[in-house]
Amino acid sequence: MVPSRYAHRVGKIDVLVISDGVLSLPGAMLGHNVDPAVRAAWLEDMFLPPDVLEWALNAVVVRSGDLTILVDAGIGEEFPDLPRAGLWAQRLEAAGIDPASVTDVVLTHMHMDHCGGLLADGVKEQLRPDLRVHVAAAEAEFWESPDFSRVSMPPGFPDALRRTAKRFLKEYHSQLRTFENDYEVAPGVVVQRTGGHTPGHSVVRLASGGDRLTFAGDAVFSVGFEHPDWFNGFEHDPEEAARVRVRLLRELAANRESLVATHLSFPSVCHVAVDGDVFRWVPGLWEY
Ligand SMILES: [Zn+2]
Repeated sequence: MVPSRYAHRVGKIDVLVISDGVLSLPGAMLGHNVDPAVRAAWLEDMFLPPDVLEWALNAVVVRSGDLTILVDAGIGEEFPDLPRAGLWAQRLEAAGIDPASVTDVVLTHMHMDHCGGLLADGVKEQLRPDLRVHVAAAEAEFWESPDFSRVSMPPGFPDALRRTAKRFLKEYHSQLRTFENDYEVAPGVVVQRTGGHTPGHSVVRLASGGDRLTFAGDAVFSVGFEHPDWFNGFEHDPEEAARVRVRLLRELAANRESLVATHLSFPSVCHVAVDGDVFRWVPGLWEY
């Protein structure tokens, strides 16, 4: 296990990016609506292999006032096809976060790489009984009877995703606090539903003392700056996901705020610039 925590401040809010390793996924999933030759050329231009890509898996811990908030929770368990991720609970502990100190969890959505950590062995027992788990009402509702007709995932994934989300809803039912469109979890910490990736997909907006940072969950992938219209294989409504991505990237570029996203290379703190009709990824500087 590699120690992987990155501390960052947004005004008075403490932000810790924690990696849950990497997910090895087919390159085609970055843009399944694109001519394979165009996709292969992009991957080559980016010095990436053509077949299997390593996707970062970032989760975040936010401290504001007296609250300690987990934003997503990694994949948690070691899925047979994803051997390089699944130690989120250990990495959280290694980063100095005691699960018993966590007051709130915010889930961007209920795919297993975002909520699975809370289902790993022994985790729930360490969490407080009065823990609040915030998720969009549309997300909880979606997973009662999820639609996978528009996704493009490797075999086995839809079943694993369905199973994990159902189990999550069952195990954390009494802790769930659903919201419609947005909810202020703590001073300067607002979760906002975007839809697209999943119907209840949400982003977390942080603002304090003139600083701003958005945790975008799965609204943005590495290819999404240059090709925001490429459909990601995990998107349940890819057209809407692309609209959400463009809207969010435009806003982040205009605000000049920082961006962190689940599957951008760790620690993923970056800025967004407008580049003609598309966008440019501007990596943040490492802060010691
Ligand atoms: Zn994801």
